[in-house]
Amino acid sequence: MRLNGKIAIVTGGSRGIGEAIVRRLVREGATVYATYNSSSAAAEAIATDLAAQGGTVHFRKLDVRDSLACQRFIEEIVSEVGHLDALVNNAGITRDALLLRMNEQDWDEVIATNLRSVFVMTKAVLRPMLSQRSGRIVNISSVVGISGNAGQANYAASKAGVIAFTKSIARELSSRNVLVNCVAPGYIETDMTGKLTEEQRQALLRSVPLNRAGTGDDVAGVVAFLLSDDASYITGQTIAVDGGMVMLP
Ligand code: NAD
Repeated sequence: MRLNGKIAIVTGGSRGIGEAIVRRLVREGATVYATYNSSSAAAEAIATDLAAQGGTVHFRKLDVRDSLACQRFIEEIVSEVGHLDALVNNAGITRDALLLRMNEQDWDEVIATNLRSVFVMTKAVLRPMLSQRSGRIVNISSVVGISGNAGQANYAASKAGVIAFTKSIARELSSRNVLVNCVAPGYIETDMTGKLTEEQRQALLRSVPLNRAGTGDDVAGVVAFLLSDDASYITGQTIAVDGGMVMLP
């Protein structure tokens, strides 16, 4: 129960890695405000399941591309609860294509969802976190933001942007004890990677020294650690959760 009494926000919490993060944070004692984009049924099922185990997650519908809605969402929570301990920017999409075939819409949608939303959500939590003189922000990047990937120029650029944004903001906010870090998952089995062909799946697995795909829980455990007191001397870092796929210097 490392997160007992903490108030945490998780975007894209109704499935995949986001769902695992929501479940993990609630299990560690946090009260979570999570967002879903389209699947209210999935969100409701998770909330009911966690309530039966004595935990609390409040789901709200939010499109992270809508800046005003993001600001309103944070303002509502802060006025309801009075403070805010953690933000996990997890929502993300892919629109894969080789550059020759990638159009501006593929580019803009990925940048708006994966990168601009991180800027907007982070800005929205600044006021409460700065005045509290405490706060944690974890951004879900990707190993592709470190290594690049053919067919994912838009996605890789968005995820590299998240890493650089994280480092800059970590420097800006350190004096107020607001710690900002990235988690960079490798190959995790979710709806996002469910689109891969068997051949792509096997090729990816061959690049994983631990020889298995990761799970949402593998990522969620590291997020919970970064939000806990155990990580109070860590900021501006990117932790790869990838079975050894990309070994950072
Ligand atoms: P997923 O497709 O299962 O989940 C993505 C989540 O983002 C969903 O909850 C979805 O509703 C939400 N979302 C998408 N667009 C949104 C929008 N406009 N507004 C609000 N929410 C929106 O994928 P996942 O694998 O669980 O991915 C979660 C995060 O992890 C993403 O940022 C992704 O880029 C990152 N990631 C995943 C992998 C992987 O192998 N699965 C690897 C590296 C990074």
